[in-house]
Amino acid sequence: MIDFSLTEDQLALQKKAREFAIREVLPVARKYDEAEEFPIDVIKAAYNEGLLNLGIPKKYGGAGCGLLESCIVVEEISSACPGIATSVFDNNLGAEPIVIGGNEEQKERVLTDITKNFKLIAFATSEPTMGSDVAGMKCRAVEDGGDYILNGAKFWITNGGYADYVTIFATVDPEKKHKGIAAFIVPTDTEGVKLGKHIPKLGQRSSNTVSVVLKDVRIGKENVLAKPGRGFVLGMQTFAHTRPAIGAFAVGCARSAMEYSIDYAQKREVFGRTIDHYQAIQFKIAEMYKDIEAARLLTYKAAWEADQGKDNNLSSSIAKAFASDVAMKVTTEAVQIFGGYGYLRTYPVEKLFRDAKLYQIYEGTSEVQRIIISKFVMNQYKHAMPKLGKVRKN
Ligand SMILES: Cc1cc2nc3c(=O)[nH]c(=O)nc-3n(C[C@H](O)[C@H](O)[C@H](O)COP(=O)(O)OP(=O)(O)OC[C@H]3O[C@@H](n4cnc5c(N)ncnc54)[C@H](O)[C@@H]3O)c2cc1C
Repeated sequence: MIDFSLTEDQLALQKKAREFAIREVLPVARKYDEAEEFPIDVIKAAYNEGLLNLGIPKKYGGAGCGLLESCIVVEEISSACPGIATSVFDNNLGAEPIVIGGNEEQKERVLTDITKNFKLIAFATSEPTMGSDVAGMKCRAVEDGGDYILNGAKFWITNGGYADYVTIFATVDPEKKHKGIAAFIVPTDTEGVKLGKHIPKLGQRSSNTVSVVLKDVRIGKENVLAKPGRGFVLGMQTFAHTRPAIGAFAVGCARSAMEYSIDYAQKREVFGRTIDHYQAIQFKIAEMYKDIEAARLLTYKAAWEADQGKDNNLSSSIAKAFASDVAMKVTTEAVQIFGGYGYLRTYPVEKLFRDAKLYQIYEGTSEVQRIIISKFVMNQYKHAMPKLGKVRKN
């Protein structure tokens, strides 16, 4: 049957992550945002606390968390700073294709290096001319005696400037679309790999975002993660496992915007009363709470399905799309509740508003999630009611 309560272990993990977020992340969130600086010391602190490589199995030195536990942790970190949360979780995104599709030797060699030696790993499908249309990638992989030679450019790569490895998706033939895509483990010190400079952004400014240019990069057969034709599926399987965490980021971001709104509304006096007395403000806060609750439940469901070994492709799209929209709506209303102060950098809602927008864009835009959901509803959804023709009054 259904049980909505967290276990004692999950509550303990939530407490640990919340304490970490309040102690290590919150005090430096504004500093890293304004400096647009990569929070390497916070990432190191997360590593020391065992909060960095959540999804890597214990066998390879990771935390061995299920996806639900990962969501519990990242909601807490994101509530303190969405940009730092993105930076911390990116090791899970980068490593997930290896966790899902790597062979034993690759897991032992690369995952263990990441967990034992504090290495960072990024993930790269996107290119300057392609983000949503993953099957339309142009970065080339040419086989050469079992090795592959990579040429092309990847763009918007989170943590890329500091990464020791990047899981790179490339195609043996762009004409073959998804059937031509392969995936590779690329150590960034390989000859021909060039990591670009940090690209300035609207929000989540402490997360590092760069281009990765590949010029005649030779990748040995030991680092072929998915052969041509398998890479696209591996990419989609990875997203199904990471999109619930984006939902959890969005919940954390929205939750803080709501909490700050309550605090502000209880203090700000207008027309002789604090604004929490006005129903227009109370209803905004009620909407926030209702939407955050729903977003968290959808996120947990998508994570739970993955942990049960079920196909969570659909539920992860629903969770990501819903929670991202909630974060945008809640942070927008939070700025409104703060009035003119909401528009200043004085209070944290201005930052959360900028940070929230990214959730609707990366790891598949909100439109892409709706394409996935509508395909299911229009083609696979099983109707409970008889066909319309049978219930129509003639
Ligand atoms: C800060 C940041 C960090 C990122 N980190 C990474 C990373 O680590 N690794 C990585 O690989 N990528 C990363 N990305 C890239 C991100 O995943 C892409 O930006 C995203 O997938 C959208 O692709 P695009 O920007 O090319 O938009 P486009 O694909 O050009 O889309 C433009 C617009 O058209 C809409 N659209 C596209 N197709 C359709 C359609 N069929 N129907 C209706 N609307 C459509 C989109 O939803 C969007 O609104 C990051 C992006 C950002 C901004």
